[in-house]
Amino acid sequence: MIYDVVVVGGGIAGLMAAIEAKSSTNRVAIITKGNLFKSNSSLASGGINAVLDPYDHGELQKHMDDTLKSAAGLGDKKSIEYMCKRAPHIIKKLTEFGVEFDKDDAGNIAQRSFGGGSAKRTCYVGDKTGAAITQALIKHAKSLGVQFLVNNFIMNLALHHSKVSGVISLRRFDSSVVVYPAKAVILAGGGYAGIYRGFSTNAVDYTGDLLAIALRAGLRLQDMEFVQFHPTGFAKSSNLVSEAARGEGGYLVNDEGKRFVDELERRDVVSRAIAEQIENGKKVFIDLRHLGKELIEKKLPSLYKSAFLQAGIDLSEELLPIKPVAHYTMGGVEASNGVNTDIKGLFVCGECAANGVHGANRLGGNSLLEGAVFGELAGTRALAYSRAKDFYPIDYSKVIKDIELVDKIFDKDTSKNFNAMRISLGNMMFSGVGIKRNQEGLEKAYDYISYLRSEVPTLHCIGKERTNNVELISILELRNVTEIAEAVILSALKREESRGAHFRVDHEETNPKYAKSIVVQELKKGILRVFLKEHKLLYKIRKIFNAKTN
Ligand SMILES: Cc1cc2nc3c(=O)[nH]c(=O)nc-3n(C[C@H](O)[C@H](O)[C@H](O)COP(=O)(O)OP(=O)(O)OC[C@H]3O[C@@H](n4cnc5c(N)ncnc54)[C@H](O)[C@@H]3O)c2cc1C
Repeated sequence: MIYDVVVVGGGIAGLMAAIEAKSSTNRVAIITKGNLFKSNSSLASGGINAVLDPYDHGELQKHMDDTLKSAAGLGDKKSIEYMCKRAPHIIKKLTEFGVEFDKDDAGNIAQRSFGGGSAKRTCYVGDKTGAAITQALIKHAKSLGVQFLVNNFIMNLALHHSKVSGVISLRRFDSSVVVYPAKAVILAGGGYAGIYRGFSTNAVDYTGDLLAIALRAGLRLQDMEFVQFHPTGFAKSSNLVSEAARGEGGYLVNDEGKRFVDELERRDVVSRAIAEQIENGKKVFIDLRHLGKELIEKKLPSLYKSAFLQAGIDLSEELLPIKPVAHYTMGGVEASNGVNTDIKGLFVCGECAANGVHGANRLGGNSLLEGAVFGELAGTRALAYSRAKDFYPIDYSKVIKDIELVDKIFDKDTSKNFNAMRISLGNMMFSGVGIKRNQEGLEKAYDYISYLRSEVPTLHCIGKERTNNVELISILELRNVTEIAEAVILSALKREESRGAHFRVDHEETNPKYAKSIVVQELKKGILRVFLKEHKLLYKIRKIFNAKTN
């Protein structure tokens, strides 16, 4: 099947993009690597930021100022302004698509406070905002005739010179490699916090696949060192303990029963304070007992239930052990003008994009908004592009390479345990490239990643059954994880300062020399180059020079 527009990703960004790209006559498909209902978007609980009155310039300015402040000097003013001004229209659109936001007593959309915001501007649907939004969007996209190709693992882009011509996909069902030709492709594959396996609110399959694909296609990744750690994950499962728990008055205490930080401080400050307690051999808990059972059940129903089901803890009587966890990744595929890439016909949006909206740190409630706003924009651009262009040829030599890779993974035997590798990589990332970083820890992590990168080509499936082979996908994911982890480590090494979510104990100050994004590019297969982003004009000149000398 061929498509005018293929969208990779079925979260809020991909769904908005597909809806916008669909016309009455064209063919649009959304591709997801697993279940359509399984995405970070559907897990989002707190809400989505928006000033609801598009003419309230004062409040709009405050939203822009909060976002810019949070970005710690790396925010892109144009993108931020576009996002904040588009927000009221997005909420209206979502309502028209069937999202029923909670209302206040006067019947208006209710708004709550969220970390880092100077006003109540977070719209919500109980503590299931993401699920309510994605379900409404899926229903709307289906009604428009968008096709859903689930259980398709995108391996690479199909390119014709510097233009996109489709995507190369591995179908989980029978492990066959297929091509979906498309005039335009939108990447909306989410973030890479899952590489911190064992220490992340994200599912283990958040392996940064689309970022790795973009890197292999010659695109640049930006801001990769900025990983936002959430102070409160369940100590055992890493599942999120929502910020609302502290917002409602919950305490953080150590095993001596002592409070050690202002619970309402910024996420990075609280995360560091918890990390220090843990370093000193203490355990950390969230204490909600003083709030009383009635309030906990009323205001934090999902948390009350999951503490009981996952940890066997009654929050009205017991302490819940917690730890900080990787939650959101600011880095992504470098985007210009909001969603454009250097490959014609290829657009990028949502958490996998870096368009300068979050810079060095994300404001809570802004990522659902970013996904919706820039998803919408990517869909509009892709529709216009696909109307103006025809299909470009598929380079089948690239497809054959992916078929050979899959065959090779099946062909040989191995005794190596790639699951153990993923787990130890998660441990290494958390200890060396986590909340507090230094040169020594980063170099150690780099050495380990280099070793893993050399191991990946030697991994093979133990089970040779081609139907629904989970090992095959895990090996392909591990390949992507190691590439992305290396990009994160190299960027963190390069940034010899502390800024936003990136904290170096050996460089605690913010240094104006680094008031620029860091970008990563693959020079040749497996060799990454990391540098401070230069002025656009310089970049263009260098590109032309490189093209001439290559
Ligand atoms: C527990 C939790 C709570 C959160 N709460 C909030 C909140 O209250 N407010 C807020 O603003 N943000 C919140 N966030 C962050 C927010 O949910 C995400 O940043 C946002 O949903 C990302 O949306 P997205 O559309 O970019 O990607 P996602 O929703 O992550 O979707 C990614 C999609 O890409 C697909 N995909 C990935 N790789 C491949 C591949 N190789 N082949 C095919 N398909 C692929 C996946 O299958 C999936 O469909 C939360 C995050 C988590 C984890």
